[in-house]
Amino acid sequence: HAKDDPLTKEKLYNPQQEHTLTRQVLLEAQLNQALTEENSLLVWYQPKQDLHNRQINGLEALIRWNHITEGLISPGEFIPLAERTGLICSITDFVVRQVAKDIPKLRMHGFTGKVSINISANDFMRANLVDSLLALLKPYNIDTSDIELEITEGAFISDFDHCILLLTALRDAGFALSIDDFGTGYSSLSYLTRLPVDTIKIDMSFVRELARCEQARQIYKGMIDICKAMHFDVLAEGVDDDAQREALAAIGCDRIQGYLLSKPLPVDKLGDFLNK
Ligand code: C2E
Ligand code: MG
Ligand code: MG
Ligand code: MG
Repeated sequence: HAKDDPLTKEKLYNPQQEHTLTRQVLLEAQLNQALTEENSLLVWYQPKQDLHNRQINGLEALIRWNHITEGLISPGEFIPLAERTGLICSITDFVVRQVAKDIPKLRMHGFTGKVSINISANDFMRANLVDSLLALLKPYNIDTSDIELEITEGAFISDFDHCILLLTALRDAGFALSIDDFGTGYSSLSYLTRLPVDTIKIDMSFVRELARCEQARQIYKGMIDICKAMHFDVLAEGVDDDAQREALAAIGCDRIQGYLLSKPLPVDKLGDFLNK
């Protein structure tokens, strides 16, 4: 009576699951296709602000997929898919190339800071990550010092010693480095002492808590103090109102990023933002 067993039934036919699977297979094929097209994948930029002088001193490159029938699909949906299927490395290469093309335009708008690019855990498995990044930048005459790489904590779980070597090699090549989404994963303050990075990006979930309670403020002040004692620059993500910005400034946070300043913008709209 296997067919009466709910678990077996589930395995035999689950329309919802089938729908999800079909969509994933379809999206994977379409994402592969999108990588070869002109305007399907877009790179937008979100500003970062220095809290000490209120200047915009960084931009984060964030990918967008302008899908033929579905419109804009969030990277929250297709980046995990690309990570599962191995497409992520081609996406990283695409973003690096697009950033290299956009940097001269950003400089013309008067932007002097670094542009950051998200690097996935899969990129960390590439034997030749440093060389391939250098090779991608070379034709555009872009210096590594123009670029910051954001690496999420999740990338460190597999082989920590290998990660340290790779981070050191990236840093020696001249890239600035930051730890993305700090506090969400396997983060511990103790591993920080070994990481050759410049900036710690505190995840937006902390920022949400900060505004809500005094105890959280004390805890995050302690965390920021420790980061500063280790000479890291501390940036808070997802800051969307002025009260959060002031609370972060009060506990010693160096920089912020979030909708308070701006949502990610296409390069052509950034000129107006940077000039006002
Ligand atoms: P992330 O690197 O942590 O990027 C920050 C995300 O938070 C972005 O979402 C940004 O639009 C969003 N955000 C910024 N400020 C606020 C705010 O004030 N409120 C709220 N609610 N959200 C805010 P986005 O662009 O949807 O990207 C999501 C994630 O997808 C990124 O998180 C990153 O992990 C990944 N991603 C995006 N582009 C790339 C890429 O080119 N390569 C790789 N490997 N991953 C990427
Ligand atoms: Mg990021
Ligand atoms: Mg982040
Ligand atoms: Mg995040």
